Amino acid sequence: MSAPSPPRSQPVCESAPKSNPSWIAAYQLDPAQRYCTCCERDLTGNAGRMLELDQRTDTYHDFCDVPEDRSQGWFPFGLTCARKKIAQAKEARKGRP
Ligand SMILES: [Zn+2]
Repeated sequence: MSAPSPPRSQPVCESAPKSNPSWIAAYQLDPAQRYCTCCERDLTGNAGRMLELDQRTDTYHDFCDVPEDRSQGWFPFGLTCARKKIAQAKEARKGRP
């Protein structure tokens, strides 16, 4: 018996490992990591996203332009928190050269 495949399982970008698709289902995560990095709510079903922690701005996003030595890795988020975090990351970039 195989696990149901998610609707979108391609990695978000080249720099993202294959195990970190832009869209992630709870069952794809290690049970110990099955919660939102932002609000610590349990992730269930199909609603989750992996975002990269950017040391340069201390924000989470999936822009895929973080140099390897400035990336803290990829973390799971609920969809609502992911949207919020990406918006914050965009704000943080405004006014930067
Ligand atoms: Zn959250």
